[in-house]
Amino acid sequence: MSDCLFCKIVEGTIPARKVYEDDRVVAFHDIQPQAPVHLLVIPKKHIASMNDATPDDAELLGHTLLAAQQVAKEAGIAESGYRLVNNCGKDSGQIVFHIHWHVLGGEKLGALNV
Ligand code: C5P
Repeated sequence: MSDCLFCKIVEGTIPARKVYEDDRVVAFHDIQPQAPVHLLVIPKKHIASMNDATPDDAELLGHTLLAAQQVAKEAGIAESGYRLVNNCGKDSGQIVFHIHWHVLGGEKLGALNV
């Protein structure tokens, strides 16, 4: 999608500190980290949010989550633990409408009370 920030990161027209890339997924450092490790994992396909995913995306989304597991391992936070966050829609605080998972860790994270 031409006006999507994360599509531009996928294309390479906006720079990002990538930590992982394959044919379907990219992971990179968040520019405003909220934890010592804060990575974003995105499918290359433009899906605006969880609300826009379809059954046809099931395999891709599973692959994206496994990429999140992989980058957490490579960042050294798998053993101590980490949080995967997907914001969906305005009440969640989603600001970039290209589906993504935050990988947060590297310290004891605050309780979510959910
Ligand atoms: O889930 P949400 O849409 O709120 O998160 C978007 C995230 O994308 C933010 O944490 C923001 O810091 C990050 N971001 C980024 N690189 C950009 C623009 C936004 O890492 N160029």
